[in-house]
Order: sequence, then structure tokens, then C-alpha cells
Amino acid sequence: MGIFEIVAKDAGGRIGKLRTKHGTIETPAFLPVVNPHLPIVSPDDLKKLGFEIFITNAYVLYRDEKLRELALKQGIHGMLKWNKAIMTDSGAFQLMAYREVEITNREILEFQKRIGVDIGVILDVPVARGSYETRKRAIDETFERAKEAKELGFLDTKDTIWVGPIHGAPIPKLVDYAALIMTELDFPMYGLGSAVPLMEEYRYQQLIKAALTAKKRLPPNKPIHLFGAGHPASFALIVALGYDTFDSAAYALYARDKRYMTPEGSFDLRELRYFPCDCPVCTEYTPQELRSMDDLTAQHLLALHNLYVCQAEIRRIKQAIWEGNLWELVAKRVSAHPELARAYAWLLDKDNVSAYEYFEKYEPIYKRSGIMITRIEELFLPIVRRYRERLKERIYIWSDRIIISEPGAVTSLPRYLGAQVFMLNPVFGIIPREIRSQYPMFQHLSFLDKMPEFSINFAKEIINWLKEAFNIKEVYVFARRKSVAEELKRVFDADEIYAGQDVGVIEKEEFILHTARAMIRWQWGVGAEKLIKKPFFEYSPTTGVLRKIWECDISKEEVEKIVRPEIDRIVEKRKKEGKPIPEDPYEYFYERIKKWLLLAINPNNMKLIPQRLFAYRFWKHFWIENKELRYMLVARSDTEPYILRGLTLFCKHVVEYDEKIRANDEVFIIGESRKLLSFGKAELSAYEIKFFDTGPAVEPRHGFEGFPLD
Ligand SMILES: [Zn+2]
Repeated sequence: MGIFEIVAKDAGGRIGKLRTKHGTIETPAFLPVVNPHLPIVSPDDLKKLGFEIFITNAYVLYRDEKLRELALKQGIHGMLKWNKAIMTDSGAFQLMAYREVEITNREILEFQKRIGVDIGVILDVPVARGSYETRKRAIDETFERAKEAKELGFLDTKDTIWVGPIHGAPIPKLVDYAALIMTELDFPMYGLGSAVPLMEEYRYQQLIKAALTAKKRLPPNKPIHLFGAGHPASFALIVALGYDTFDSAAYALYARDKRYMTPEGSFDLRELRYFPCDCPVCTEYTPQELRSMDDLTAQHLLALHNLYVCQAEIRRIKQAIWEGNLWELVAKRVSAHPELARAYAWLLDKDNVSAYEYFEKYEPIYKRSGIMITRIEELFLPIVRRYRERLKERIYIWSDRIIISEPGAVTSLPRYLGAQVFMLNPVFGIIPREIRSQYPMFQHLSFLDKMPEFSINFAKEIINWLKEAFNIKEVYVFARRKSVAEELKRVFDADEIYAGQDVGVIEKEEFILHTARAMIRWQWGVGAEKLIKKPFFEYSPTTGVLRKIWECDISKEEVEKIVRPEIDRIVEKRKKEGKPIPEDPYEYFYERIKKWLLLAINPNNMKLIPQRLFAYRFWKHFWIENKELRYMLVARSDTEPYILRGLTLFCKHVVEYDEKIRANDEVFIIGESRKLLSFGKAELSAYEIKFFDTGPAVEPRHGFEGFPLD
């Protein structure tokens, strides 16, 4: 079984479970650096603060004869009186600081193993300065030592998780090289080093570039550590990039300098009149009282406060991942320092295709919360960018007349018009009316009240493309005020201003059909719109929101394969529950209403949730007729009976998949025999499913056990 599993994810970040010999750690985790010589806080303090792991230095222990003997005799857990996980660093930092380490790689590996550390590091060679060649030599030397660790069998042990260090920062080319050669050795965990000098000098953009370069190379199933993460204001950004654990001594170093951390930045204790925090330290003392204490006591208390702040920030980050608004938290935190803001702006730059490609692979397709646009660079959040990338391919066109409506005016247009309506939108540029409630278009709030130039240009590009590709005959513009309408007419080179001219009308049934088709095509791509023939919309009686899509045109074959067996199940269930059963269940449940449920709708994000009839049509159309694995995964043959019953599909049992699948997509599972087994919600993206051998790939909705589908 793998040591690492994803529980929840957002942006490139993830909440994970990291299994060590001394318990499972929930990640992202912040590991305070504990100095065995002069601990400013004790392991006992850390326990009270809720830490599950900390990091200390194996080389410092080794060099001190007394500590070395004690560690060897009692083990590191016994010596430090700590029964949870411990990570040790190997002395690389000392090497960088003093240029001399009196220990070999093999010795420090043996030592870490003998004292029983849970996460250990080889004796790497960090180089923060020097020529390209010097740095490359250091990377090659680290690689040789990593190879030695592997050849000596260290990586085979289950007791210690060994970290493969990646150096080369801040030079992306070197980081890429280091990550590439280190992945060859298949370490259970990786770590990005040489980051401390960048943090200390606020060179966040270089740090983020290096961190992203490494992540792009490293397989997603490996937990990644960042050596020396510094201030809590940077934690959210580091996690969003996909880093799972990070250590820092900053809480102690800051305390020594009388600096008081907050997630928004730091204060000098000498200048604080009030504590903006309600941790036990800040509720018990005033800044005045702390200043009057002796140095060591004040340092200790400040360090405790700083740790509280770091730990609370980690909890906030995990909550943000859970809710799907990690980007929002990142945006708040980068305000702490202009260099952080610069790094963030670089990450979301419209020309930074490389970063977008990275995030797009991981970014879930639906989230628990909507998106908040508070800065102009957020027009390039991966989820917004993805909308623009998908629009041309997935747009559903049913009329040769179009009306472009100003933002907000669309509700003033009649519903059943013969022309197709597009709404301008400052964030998304242009949105087809049929899909406007679908995530994330309806679920966004933005500070923009005017169309920025980029969005106007995107809307123009789409309209011009539509004219060409679909032979559009008439383009109208619509706005509440005449002056705005004139302006739109000019910008979009439209034929007329719409003011109630005859553009034709459509029947309600037609309107429903187009809407349903546009929504289905948006969610599953080209061709999926054919899977609905005669829809019926059911709205919520309380909110009026669309809740269910029924199909009224059902073939004889579908009745036999889906409707009848489902009625049998309804009857069985009612029997068990002691509910009355109609005399002729088939007549009562189907013949009388002549329609069957095709899709349910999640009221929060308007995601279409397939029912068995839809899954059957999807599989038949895409797999049976077109041999296309669209939004499908193939389960290993020995798991077929379980998947048919509607049990979870695990990553390790997936033998093939559609690369397009993203977390929270609604997907379909077929067997190696190509039989339809079940359908459900993807927990991870295709790229993650490919690498992980632990954890679920799809949380099923229904299986097809007993259905005569062959
Ligand atoms: Zn506090």
C-alpha cells in the first residue's frame, strides 16, 4: 500500500494522509524545527499545540557525543519523549553554512535508521551560490548519494520514509534537471531544497518558479516537502502549488528578534499596543507585559504564539481546500508583501501557459463554493481560463440569429425567442444563455462592473468565429440604454440593435430541448447533446430552480434494459419498507407517465447527475457505437463484480481512462470486457489516477448488477 493518499483537493493543493511508522499525518503539515541543543519550545509544548510531527537535525545529534549516545540507546522518540512522527534533516543546511561536515552519506543514513526516524533525508549538497557548473556538480553529487542510498537498500525499508532532495533553485533549468534525475530513483517522498536564501531575501517569484518546475516533473502520488518555508503568509501559496509538508525555524528566529507573526505579516513587539490574536498567550498577556519579561520567557511565549499562528493558518488552508476556495485565501495572503503579490501575479499571468497547464491538470471541475474575483489577474484563474478554452469546442448552436446582450440585461429578453442569446460578462467574456447557471459562471462574484479590454476582445473573437463557423445570418445587440446599445453595435460590428423586431419564436418544448442539449454538451463535450431526445424539465416548487431532467422519448430496448429492471428494484424496496405496491407497477410507474428520469441536477453548481438511463445511452453511444472512451474508466476484470454492485473504484484497479477526466466530473465505469458496470463522481483527475495506487478513483452512484445490458 502506498504511503500517501489524497482526501480532498483544490488548485494544485491537497489534503492528504501520509502514513508513517508513528501514525498517519494529515497534510498539508507544517513541521516546526526543534533545535535539540536549545529548544525554545519543547516537544511537550508542541503536543499541546496539536502538532503531529516536527523536524530536528540528525547531524546536530550525531556531532554531540552525549546526544548521539542517548539517541542510539533510547531511539529518537524515547530521547525526545515524543510518540508521534519525527523527521530529521541530514546536515545539508550545516554544510551550506559551514562548508564542512564531518560525516559521510552512509553514516548519516545509518544513524537516522538506527535512531528510528520516520522521515529521513540523505546527505544532500545544497548550493545557493556559484556558477551554473558549480551548482550542477552539486546536483550530480546529491544524485550519486541518492543512488548510494538506493543501492544500500535504504529505500526498501518501510520504517523510514526517505526524502529525495531536489536542488538547483533559483535556476529553473537546474531544478528541472535535478527533479528529472531524482525521479529515476523512485524515492517515496521528495523535497525541494535551496529555498531558504530565497525566502530570506523575499525572492518569492524565483521560489515559486523553482517550486512549480519541480512539481511539474515529480509524480503526483509522491508527497513533496519544502525545506524552509518561512513566514505563514506564504503557506497558502506553497500549498496551492502542490507542496504537502514544509518545515521552518522562522517561528523561533522571529521570536528571538521580538517579532510577532500574523498571517498578514509581522509586527515588532516593541511597537505593538494590542495583540490581534486570541491564542492563550495573547489572551493572557498584553504586549506591555511581554516586553517587561526576561528575554528567555518572552522569547518562549512569542515562539508559542508564532506556532499557534502557523498551525491556525494550516487549518485555514485545509478548510479552504475543502470548500474549494484556496485561490481566494492565496489572494488574501499575498497582500502581506509586494514580492508575494508579484509571485502571485506571475503565476496567473495570461502568458504563463506553463503554470496554467500545470493547474488545469489538477483543478477540480466543480467546487463546493463559487469563485470570487477581486483582482484583475484573476481573470486568468485556471477555472476561468478553462471556460474560455472549452467554449469553442463545447458551445451548442441552434439558430442562425444571435443577440448579444449587455451584462445583466438578459432577464429583460423574452424566453422563447427564435434567436440565440449570448450574455456579455466582465470575467468570462461571453456566456451562452442556456448554460449561464452552470458552474462556475453563475457561481461567481466579481469586483468588475465594466468589461475589461481582454474580455471584450475574447467576446469579439467568439462572435466572429461564430459568424464564420455557423453561418450566422443576423447579429443583434441588446442593452437597456440606447447609448450602450449603440456602443455594442459598433464594437461587435452587429447588424441591428434589438428592440423587439421579429426574430422568430420557438415553442416551449423546443426551448427546453435546446437548453438541455446545451447543458449536456457543456458538461460532456461534442456529441453528448444527442443523448437527449424529448426532455421534460421539473423545477423545484419552492425555489423555481431546475432540479430534474426527464426523458419522454424512450425506446422499447431502453424500457427492457433500464426501465423495467429499475421498476423491479422500486417494488423490492417498497416491499422491504412495507409500503403499498401498485397492482400493475409497470403501468403505475411508467406507462401512466411515459417518461423516465435522465438527469438530476445539483442545486448548488447545476451539475448534471446521470441516472441509469443516461449512463446506458452514454455508454452505448460513445463506447459501443463510436469506440470512444469519453469520460470513461476501465476497471480491472477481477473487480467487475464489485463495481457492478456499486462499490468504490480504486485507483490501482483502473487500467485505462479518458485523459480529460478532472476531479468531480461525472464519469462512467466499464469493465475490461467493455461492459457498462457503473457510474459516479471522479475523486481525482485522470493524471492523478494514473499515478496513485492508494485511494478511491470514483465514488459510485449506481451499479448495473442484474441489468440485462449485454
Ligand atoms: Zn497569539
